Amino acid sequence: MQFIRDLYAAAQTQGRPLISIEFFTPKTPEGEAAFYTRTLPELARLRPGYCSVTYGAGGSTRQKTLEMVQRIQDEHGIPAMAHLTCVGATRPQIVALLEEARARGIRNILALRGDPPAGSGGFQPVDGGFRYAHELVTLARHLSGFSIGVAGFPEGHLECREGRHVDWERLKAKIDCGADFVLTQLFFDNAFFYEMRDYLVQRLGVRVPIVPGVIPIQSAAQIRRFVALCGATIPPRLAERLEALGEDDAATAAFGIEYATAQCSDLLRQGVPGLHFYSLNKAGPVTRILGNLGLASAG
Ligand SMILES: Cc1cc2nc3c(=O)[nH]c(=O)nc-3n(C[C@H](O)[C@H](O)[C@H](O)COP(=O)(O)OP(=O)(O)OC[C@H]3O[C@@H](n4cnc5c(N)ncnc54)[C@H](O)[C@@H]3O)c2cc1C
Repeated sequence: MQFIRDLYAAAQTQGRPLISIEFFTPKTPEGEAAFYTRTLPELARLRPGYCSVTYGAGGSTRQKTLEMVQRIQDEHGIPAMAHLTCVGATRPQIVALLEEARARGIRNILALRGDPPAGSGGFQPVDGGFRYAHELVTLARHLSGFSIGVAGFPEGHLECREGRHVDWERLKAKIDCGADFVLTQLFFDNAFFYEMRDYLVQRLGVRVPIVPGVIPIQSAAQIRRFVALCGATIPPRLAERLEALGEDDAATAAFGIEYATAQCSDLLRQGVPGLHFYSLNKAGPVTRILGNLGLASAG
């Protein structure tokens, strides 16, 4: 399977954005069946450049993540990436997982520190494990045979008390350890993304693709939950609109498509190398947004 760094390079040469779609591992057998029989085939028809699969909080989905990535590649011929975190694993366990990934034909990983399981009171490295994502990047680079992505935070990482410039300098350190591209946390005001990108490129000399993460809003309650977890800001005008839509999820989802389309149009005008969609395992919103942007089959 192809390396994602090569996919970004090819897309850049051809002057088109690389579209990627993120999935989570379904929690029930019914969810899993729906994913493989409906969501995935529907989104695969759009020919995204690649897909990615999350790694459950606390590393709870280890095998499922690798299995899903392998099936996306084998059954649909789409390059896929496994998210991998440092949570609850020793260095030898992480080495074993990377070796298993390689044996399954997985060539792309998103190297993350990870979030601890809910209610566990903050990230705690295990004895013989890693504290920060850059250590995982270094290990994966050392083992070789992977293209490596890392997470970036346009508003700064929630735990970084020193401010977002310090957080972005730590992001630069992950790139210096061997990361090939950056996928960002979701945001609703593109100004945050541009500020981070300009700082990384102009001040810190970063040359790897910096790719915005976009989430189509599907319900007000859900998005409020997400931003509480990741620290993203809901701008006042968006908050007012969500308030007005209340609990009408159908109307909110339609508005979410409109909002994400406008956000993506602006990002594309500003020359982003790609768009990474948090699909929440729903095919409809991403399909509609790519259709609105004239980017269906944009892989
Ligand atoms: C695109 C994307 C996908 C994601 N997928 C998943 C997933 O599948 N599973 C999951 O559990 N989570 C996922 N996350 C969430 C991510 O794991 C959390 O945001 C986590 O809290 C931080 O991970 P990181 O890799 O950015 O950590 P790091 O880069 O290690 O940073 C974590 C914190 O440590 C600080 N820090 C870094 N280096 C140092 C240093 N040397 N000294 C002091 N402080 C330092 C940083 O400023 C930051 O505050 C994802 C996030 C994104 C953006």
